[in-house]
Amino acid sequence: MSTHQSDSPLGPVDGTLVPRFAGSATFARLPRIDEVSTFDVAILGAPFDGGVSFRPGARFGPSSIRQASRHLRPAYNPAQQVSPYAVIQTVDAGDVPCNPFDIDHALQQIDDGVSELLASGGRPVMLGGDHTIALGGLRAVARRHGPVALIHFDAHLDTWNSYFGADRTHGTIFRRAHEEGLLAGDVSSHVGIRGPLYAAQDLVDDASFGFEIVSALDLDRRGIDEIVDGVRRRTKDAPIYLSIDIDVLDPAFAPGTGTPEMGGLTSRELLALVRALPPDQIVAADLVEVSPAYDHAEITSLAAATLGYEITSLMARASGSGS
Ligand code: MN
Ligand code: MN
Repeated sequence: MSTHQSDSPLGPVDGTLVPRFAGSATFARLPRIDEVSTFDVAILGAPFDGGVSFRPGARFGPSSIRQASRHLRPAYNPAQQVSPYAVIQTVDAGDVPCNPFDIDHALQQIDDGVSELLASGGRPVMLGGDHTIALGGLRAVARRHGPVALIHFDAHLDTWNSYFGADRTHGTIFRRAHEEGLLAGDVSSHVGIRGPLYAAQDLVDDASFGFEIVSALDLDRRGIDEIVDGVRRRTKDAPIYLSIDIDVLDPAFAPGTGTPEMGGLTSRELLALVRALPPDQIVAADLVEVSPAYDHAEITSLAAATLGYEITSLMARASGSGS
């Protein structure tokens, strides 16, 4: 197949020529990875939900987020003042063929898929999938960049030890990441945490893994600017892995997810937080826990698609991006 080799990026399908409900089914109607010779950012689906503890269905997240992403007008992002897909070559790398019956095999497949993108010099943005997939991503990213600062948006800590004897699930990945040395010391943050825990000790354990918690209530008490300043300062200059569990949003804004919790962020708050992250440090991201069967009117998938757009816009703002 011939590939695009001009100096300027090959952009999405032009929405003024082909209506947004038609044409390519890739994320934001971007080119496929095999249509270009090099790329800066790659969207990668990880349709795995074999690690969930409550509602299943996130295996259908990537296709649903891509469908909702048709709605985007991708050419110019006024909030970040960037034309992301004119600055960086962004592609859709398709889906990792995750084994639905074997968590460790699926994690290895995700690790391999992300490693391949990293080896090409690109930054991966994974679409889950349940949160288990982040462990595969973190393993690949830490192997390439060293231990990372994890900026983790979620209602839940995801640092529990095990469920029913299973060590690698969507609620235990970040404890495993700490144990495997994938996280740099005392630079990571959870943002949006709320809801009851299994035990008070959960918080003590979590702090010992190098996390600081910004609760959902802190948004009201401290405000967005102060919170982002704190999270940014805490990362120091470590490479950042950004992980967004869509359940960080209130169920009013993201009903289509596996473990919804009351009292969450508004979509406007989350967009503001994400847009304020430091573009130069982000080496990889994931966007997880969209379970379309519980969604209404594509609210949750639209939120995830928009976040995917904001993350790639952030990456386009990194110094050294583009020509
Ligand atoms: Mn969660
Ligand atoms: Mn999670």
